[in-house]
Amino acid sequence: MSTKKTTSKNNNKLIKLEDLNWKQIDKLDRDKTVFFQPISPLEVHGPHLPVGTDLLTAQDTATAAVKILQQKKPELNYVLLPTLPVGYCKFAVDFPGTISLNSRAIKDIVYSVGSSLATQGFKYLIICTYHMAIPHLKGIYSAMKKIRSKYNMRTCEPWGPYFYSDKIEKNEPKLGFDTSKEMHAGFRETSLMKYQYPYLVDESYKNLQNVYRNLSSPRVIGKTFKQLGLTEGYVGSPARADADYGRWFFNETVNVYVNATIEVYQGKKPDDLPRYIKTAMKALFWR
Ligand SMILES: [Zn+2]
Repeated sequence: MSTKKTTSKNNNKLIKLEDLNWKQIDKLDRDKTVFFQPISPLEVHGPHLPVGTDLLTAQDTATAAVKILQQKKPELNYVLLPTLPVGYCKFAVDFPGTISLNSRAIKDIVYSVGSSLATQGFKYLIICTYHMAIPHLKGIYSAMKKIRSKYNMRTCEPWGPYFYSDKIEKNEPKLGFDTSKEMHAGFRETSLMKYQYPYLVDESYKNLQNVYRNLSSPRVIGKTFKQLGLTEGYVGSPARADADYGRWFFNETVNVYVNATIEVYQGKKPDDLPRYIKTAMKALFWR
């Protein structure tokens, strides 16, 4: 809690859509209100991290981004939508607690959120997901495309384009090993959770062996984690986890959300997914 005195009264209050009545929502300036939709599935994250790792991170980074935006651009309203525990992770569904939806369902859900708000005249929607599986992004990106084509609404998903660029490796603190191989519940995410929720990280992480697989390779498409020999449900080196790196990773995500939101509001074209991801997305059947 900050003890600093602040002159603004309402600016620091986090607005959650579920707390408002329709009259209050109706009073929000359509041209100056940005909605944030955190969305990520419940999914195995090794034997040491909670299945809500992506969901909690998407929700917390969105919340932190709103708090910064309230200071940076206090003339806008920011509304947080309830987090959707939704995503495609069929490759991990043989682990207890993993819940997977198909891409088509994800598209319908995201489109429904956007089209409902757009029908009410709202214009800005930021999708915050921490789950980067291609069939999951296919659902989200197809929904955003449809929203943009049917309504006067600007929408973007900021993390995918950043995650699939080389920006993390360029910007991160130098560690002496390749963190791009930390694909799932490895060093990056274990660090993140050690920073955010140390009490949810099982101490067994310290003894986990390094496990590497290229999950972006076309050869793994259609295979489950277990078929790939990932019997513990992680890829990378969780034992190296470090809360300081976790803080950096968390704040980096928040900055990406903040900058993308300002760009979208200013009418700039947000960063797009790299071509190889778009090609992979197109080639995928709806599943
Ligand atoms: Zn994750």
